Amino acid sequence: MKKIGILTSGGDSQGMNSAIRAVVRTGIARGFEIIGIKRGYKGLMEKEFSKLTSRDVGDILYRGGTFLQSARSEEFRTKEGQKKGAYNLKEAGIDTLIVIGGDGSYRGAAELQKLGIKTYGMPGTIDNDIPLTDYTIGFDTTLNVVMDAIGNLRDTMSSHERVSVIEVMGRSSGDIAIHAGIASGVDAILVPELPWDLKDISRKLKEGFDQGKTHSIVVVAEGAGKAEEIAPLIHEYCGLDTRPTVLGHIQRGGTPSAFDRVFTSQMGHKVIELIENDIHGVALGIEKNEITYHSFEDIFTADTELKADLYQIFKDLI
Ligand code: ATP
Repeated sequence: MKKIGILTSGGDSQGMNSAIRAVVRTGIARGFEIIGIKRGYKGLMEKEFSKLTSRDVGDILYRGGTFLQSARSEEFRTKEGQKKGAYNLKEAGIDTLIVIGGDGSYRGAAELQKLGIKTYGMPGTIDNDIPLTDYTIGFDTTLNVVMDAIGNLRDTMSSHERVSVIEVMGRSSGDIAIHAGIASGVDAILVPELPWDLKDISRKLKEGFDQGKTHSIVVVAEGAGKAEEIAPLIHEYCGLDTRPTVLGHIQRGGTPSAFDRVFTSQMGHKVIELIENDIHGVALGIEKNEITYHSFEDIFTADTELKADLYQIFKDLI
């Protein structure tokens, strides 16, 4: 019986469990054996393999995180480590591997593809920073977590007439900041992809207070700056009382949203179809509401898309 390995790698994200469940259940229904690899590439180095049954993936659909767990592996970054990974898979009779993770995890998968393993990627990262997919796994859930947190902060900021400066995840991508900012009607959004002028922002915040506003919210993507540094600067520039909040790992938690559960189920189903058709060396995505796939090479060379249109909408709405 053909054996398919599956692992989750890099930072976890809500919806990874749903993707694993779909792979396991669809795979078994199509006559494959699914082998779970614990702790990402680290578990691949250490042969942490175990056969997954349909029951093993019961009760995980609605849980955040990944029941296969995730880790980072320095050993696997080396050529020797990658050869060892391919060897361990072949030795266990696994010629096909599904990797759920971000850009780094995809690069590892592409190396294994060169070593004769048929590999597949699924975009498991909350940052939404993978090209050729409109959404990554966990992004939608994270937006809802951030939106709730902004709502809570808004209440207390309003009572005390303060400016809340909220740092969200996104090292190279401002997607969480822009989407959550629009969804929460905030006053300023700072992202790594676009220039910003804090003096100008501070002046506008002050104008808002002068016209009767009781609070303001500034969202900053971690790649654009630190809330702890930006908040005192705003105070210095316009005199308003400011408070920094770093949302941190809370953004990675929570039960996956309906969207994250459904599209990961579709992706898990689709990847088994690709395996049956012997199409490999590809990563899946969702584009214009359809599950699509592209070669790793195309993904590595594609431009990371700036959501400039969304940012313009935000500017027009404040
Ligand atoms: P996140 O969105 O959380 O950053 P990621 O998949 O990009 O997810 P990384 O820590 O970059 O997270 O990568 C996960 C693992 O993939 C690393 O620990 C390493 O083992 C492997 N990896 C990363 N980059 C490469 C690379 N260029 N070549 C081979 N393997 C890599």
